[in-house]
Amino acid sequence: MPDAVSPAHLPAPLPPGHRFPMTKYARVAERLRADGWAVAAAVEADDEALRRAHDPGYLDAVARCALDPKAERRLGFPQTPELVRRAKASVGGTLTAARQALAGGLGVALAGGTHHAFADRGEGFCVYNDLVVAARTLLDEGAVARVLVVDLDVHQGNGTAEFCADDERVVTYSVHGARNYPFVKARSDVDVALPDGVDDAGYLAALERTLPAVWRAAAPDLVVFQGGVDVLAGDRFGRMALTHAGVVARDRFVAELARDAGTPLATTLGGGYHVDVERTVAAHVAGLTAIAHALA
Ligand SMILES: [Zn+2]
Repeated sequence: MPDAVSPAHLPAPLPPGHRFPMTKYARVAERLRADGWAVAAAVEADDEALRRAHDPGYLDAVARCALDPKAERRLGFPQTPELVRRAKASVGGTLTAARQALAGGLGVALAGGTHHAFADRGEGFCVYNDLVVAARTLLDEGAVARVLVVDLDVHQGNGTAEFCADDERVVTYSVHGARNYPFVKARSDVDVALPDGVDDAGYLAALERTLPAVWRAAAPDLVVFQGGVDVLAGDRFGRMALTHAGVVARDRFVAELARDAGTPLATTLGGGYHVDVERTVAAHVAGLTAIAHALA
């Protein structure tokens, strides 16, 4: 069974009734462990890694829990030292997963995909941009020359797109809800905007029509996958109508492209806010299981 890394050993309590499903991370790790996966504790990313993406002033404000009230509202989390530690471990987990992908073909981070974080600000529950930190770290180290970010979260990866707009080493691809948050989109290298209510057939057709060509053209040495399951019907913030089987088919398709192209694949969880958190957990677990099977 595959290895995975998770920051869920670091609790980051939220106020009662907070809409972010913090519990899903520990539940995904628990269920995969029960299936025989080896889940290791993610190590916190250090400042050197975080500085590859973020401005020193922003990093300092986050570290001191000193974001101004407006910035804190945009982020969507109350600032606490526990949350900062957890966010750093989430970035560290994605970096480890990317290194594991290069070593063995697949790396699995049971968190991350925080694609709404920008150089100087966080929004939409995203403190740091783990996708960009991981890609830039491996690029700067010379471990890879080209990275493709495949972002299938229902929300556009606006932070990632803005980070990588002028970076020819990173190709960004995002499939998302045209009318969903963020309401002002950034420009990815390839954006596939889908209507509210799109179902399995419509979604998978769009993916199959666009991703293989992007993958071929990018010729990546590493793919970093943001596999948000907020595409599921019944998700609070999703507005799409994919079934559980549709999410599994989506993830399997990505893994089969990686397998057929021989591209190392690092996966992150991304969003998932189903009214029943166990539905979100089940979709993450089933998607990752399909990926692991395809790449076994
Ligand atoms: Zn999302």
